[in-house]
Amino acid sequence: MFTLAAHTLGCKLNFAETAHLLAQLPRDCFSVVEWPAPADFYVINTCTVTSTAERKCRTAIHSAHRLNPNAKIFIIGCYATLAASTLSLIPGVEKVLPNDSKHLLPDYILQSAQFPAKHHQDGIFPIAYNLEQRTRAFLKIQDGCDYFCSYCAIPFARGRAHSATIDQVLQAANRIAQSGINEIVLTGVNTGTFGQERGESLLDLLKILDNETSIPRYRISSIEPNLLTPKMVEFVARSRAFMPHFHIPLQAANDNTLRLMRRRYTTAEYSRLILSIKQAMPHACIAADIIAAFNGESPQDFEDSIAFLHSIPISYLHVFTYSQRPNTAALKIKPAIPPQEQHRRSNLLHLLSDELLLAFHRSQIGSSRPVLWEHTDHDGQLYGYTDNYIRLSTATSSATPNTITSAIITEDNIVK
Ligand code: SF4
Repeated sequence: MFTLAAHTLGCKLNFAETAHLLAQLPRDCFSVVEWPAPADFYVINTCTVTSTAERKCRTAIHSAHRLNPNAKIFIIGCYATLAASTLSLIPGVEKVLPNDSKHLLPDYILQSAQFPAKHHQDGIFPIAYNLEQRTRAFLKIQDGCDYFCSYCAIPFARGRAHSATIDQVLQAANRIAQSGINEIVLTGVNTGTFGQERGESLLDLLKILDNETSIPRYRISSIEPNLLTPKMVEFVARSRAFMPHFHIPLQAANDNTLRLMRRRYTTAEYSRLILSIKQAMPHACIAADIIAAFNGESPQDFEDSIAFLHSIPISYLHVFTYSQRPNTAALKIKPAIPPQEQHRRSNLLHLLSDELLLAFHRSQIGSSRPVLWEHTDHDGQLYGYTDNYIRLSTATSSATPNTITSAIITEDNIVK
């Protein structure tokens, strides 16, 4: 019996892929041990979204080699795709698999352990999901992106947009339902483009999942604003299982920077979308990604951004400081923002996000919302999320893990 430890960095897509790839290894030959621990094999699923993410990947590879200098280390993921030659020189690295061949990872590990490899079918979308959490699964329905936003290296790392078929997703959701999981998060790189290559649409998929599966809760991990249509908003507002919770990347909150980023909407269009969601679902939680201090963003642009963010009913922000990515168009945009100013803008956006979240939480106090209770912590409390993504706690005697019950939101039960 061999031992294997995996470490995943980056997005939910990577976590779903790691779980899916490891699940294909025979359990009687490989025992998965928790990272970081000495093991015979390591799998590091890498991320390239920022230079910090890349540094963490290299650190993880060195750590694996230190944990067992004789171990065989396999590297997959976006950083593996963009920097295969650099990573393959790190001591202990057995194989670097770019995204277009990562589905062969189980075969390479089996061969390396001198077991016969399995046969893989090429040309079929490698649908992946993880069942590690007992209540929620991340289900990969789409991969790749054709948008080429000027700051983003993901289209180079994950290739053109492609997706599973509706039938594949339906079968996977039914398998997940059989395992007792109550919530599925549909994930992808550019989820809104689901099915476009074969004339299907994300809305077609949502309707079928809502009608033909028994999963009580679905969330969409994130969706580009230009692809979240009025029909989709209307559908979620009436649906059985799609939660009133949206993650809609904004990236810049002023039109000059949006143009430099090559985003496909204006602040006015984004604002109309957010208002339409709040009109249909006043209790909806809406998160927005935002990049602080993008190249060329003037002090006035930044001030306009803060004013815009105050003007729309967003619930909170995911703030990322701009990080230069090799081969992207943004490298030619001048001027770059000095580190001190980057830091200042990022801090202000984080503070604004805290304010927005507090205001959203306060607006929901007194309302009764369904909560999926997830796990107990060392403090003997049970934790879970409402449909509109507010984290609540309760005494363990008041609810059972992996059940959905109604709870009244109070100042005291919100987990900050
Ligand atoms: S939509 Fe833009 S930011 Fe998102 S993955 Fe595609 S290129 Fe990157």
